[in-house]
Amino acid sequence: MVVGKVEPGSEVRYAGRSLRVTSYGTVVFGVGRDAEGTLTVDVRHADGSKEQSRIAVTARDWPIERVDGVPPATVDPPPAIAERIRREQARVAAVRDRDDARTDFTQAFQRPVEGRTSGRFGRQRIYNGKPGTPHSGWDIAAATGTPVRAPAAGVVTFADPDLYLTGGTLVLDHGHGISSNFLHLSRIDVKVGDRVEQGATIAAVGATGRATGPHLHWGMNWFDVRIDPQLVLERTR
Ligand SMILES: [Zn+2]
Repeated sequence: MVVGKVEPGSEVRYAGRSLRVTSYGTVVFGVGRDAEGTLTVDVRHADGSKEQSRIAVTARDWPIERVDGVPPATVDPPPAIAERIRREQARVAAVRDRDDARTDFTQAFQRPVEGRTSGRFGRQRIYNGKPGTPHSGWDIAAATGTPVRAPAAGVVTFADPDLYLTGGTLVLDHGHGISSNFLHLSRIDVKVGDRVEQGATIAAVGATGRATGPHLHWGMNWFDVRIDPQLVLERTR
């Protein structure tokens, strides 16, 4: 997550999007796992003059992580289940399109639960020997029932206790396209539309969906771009 500052009244474009600019000139965007080379941000100042910012991206290493013992139907789903998974992922993707003016993302993010890291963002995953998509978040091992606290304030945009792959699933929108998702929950304590403050209990850790044991999966997005919550935490605390 990159937070930038421009003159208030500027227009800012990045990755084909026009970014929201706050009245005090803050903008935010995300850089995904596979970004590389030089990114460009185009700024048009209030007086009409133009400027281009260049950001060099340093590639990271993505080790392979093997996850064995997950239920076979979650790795190689039969057609009816594959269709259900597609439908559910489309519902989650839809709420990530929101571009609210709220600036909850400017808070210093806090860990949603304490615990040992059991999976890092971006690692190439092999489930029961079959290559899957890279891991999209940060896994923190904790007992079932452990309260999950909002890492920053936001508005609940998605809550479903039973998605096929991700089990109890919650999305919290922090404004300007930045959102958090919490997966494998055993309990959800909020509903769509609720405003939650930083540190509020929103759910409980579980092992629902494709999980081998109780843990919290915390993912973050800038619209459809997945970003690393651990970096957000280090950057903003
Ligand atoms: Zn995970």
